[in-house]
Amino acid sequence: MKKTVYARQTNEAQVQGISNCPECAKGHDNVRTKIYKFNEMDADHVTAWSKGGATTIENCQMLCKTHNIYHLRDVFVNGFKYYVKHRLKLKLC
Ligand SMILES: [Zn+2]
Repeated sequence: MKKTVYARQTNEAQVQGISNCPECAKGHDNVRTKIYKFNEMDADHVTAWSKGGATTIENCQMLCKTHNIYHLRDVFVNGFKYYVKHRLKLKLC
């Protein structure tokens, strides 16, 4: 499932000439157009599981490791329990 999301996202990014990490694509520096390899990215949920997000291809996106770690740290600040749940869900993605 991760590879399906990666392939779709990378294809769309190349057509648009932007980074295949949606967070990098929003930036203004040289990562804006960077295409990451599959092993340089991790799956993330567009809508967090705790907010009712489903584990589907539509609700799954690939983020570069920098942005995914940042996202996890954000979640971690809100409470350890939520962090654990989020990690478990990522494995299913
Ligand atoms: Zn990124």
